[in-house]
Amino acid sequence: MRILHHIINSILPYECPCCESDLIEPTARVCPKCGDYFHQSLKIQTLNMTHPGGFEPHRRMVDDRKFFFKSLYHLGTYEVHEKAIFQKAKFQDDAVMQSYIFSFLKTFALITQELGTSYIIPAPSSKPLIGNFTRRLAKHCQVRTVPVFKKTRNRENKTLDQFSRYREIQRNIILDPVKNIPFTSHDRVIIFDDLWTTGATMNHLCKLLVDCGIPAAQIQCLVLFIRPRNHIDL
Ligand SMILES: [Zn+2]
Repeated sequence: MRILHHIINSILPYECPCCESDLIEPTARVCPKCGDYFHQSLKIQTLNMTHPGGFEPHRRMVDDRKFFFKSLYHLGTYEVHEKAIFQKAKFQDDAVMQSYIFSFLKTFALITQELGTSYIIPAPSSKPLIGNFTRRLAKHCQVRTVPVFKKTRNRENKTLDQFSRYREIQRNIILDPVKNIPFTSHDRVIIFDDLWTTGATMNHLCKLLVDCGIPAAQIQCLVLFIRPRNHIDL
């Protein structure tokens, strides 16, 4: 797919997916200006959700919620440029943009080694992007992956207030009853999702694992992007 893209791009100049300027460099996936932007801004960063003095399970956070995981890793903030490449990758299934985003995501391999990660688990999604990235990441990091979460319905009610939305997430996402849960309380796991909006979905997934006996201190979360209005002020 990438080779095909390069061939087509050398015949018909490809438009930069972010700023729509024509690309002349046949192997480029974004224009030089946007490429510089992404190389500056896309890197694995972390938000430590635990108390500075040590892990404090189920500590109440500034917004009065309990978080059932240790740290939140992310590639960047969901701004205009990020939105352009992400939407192409997710909703148009654009293989070129998928491999471009993955080229930044794969640096997470070093972190999985440091953390002693055993499993990467994808958040459930009706689009293939999260599952594909999880499989590629697991292969690249040489860890196992198991899709244990299941959506019971795909319909999401976006008009609900935050509390009702959380109740709906709790009802709609479950541990898949036909899958055996292979990990034990000794395993360190990473849950992968694409966007962090309020954190309600991610936190619910973590809670499902905590209820299976995985300590919250052994659960880490990885997302591609955090929506800027939800920056967590620690
Ligand atoms: Zn551009």
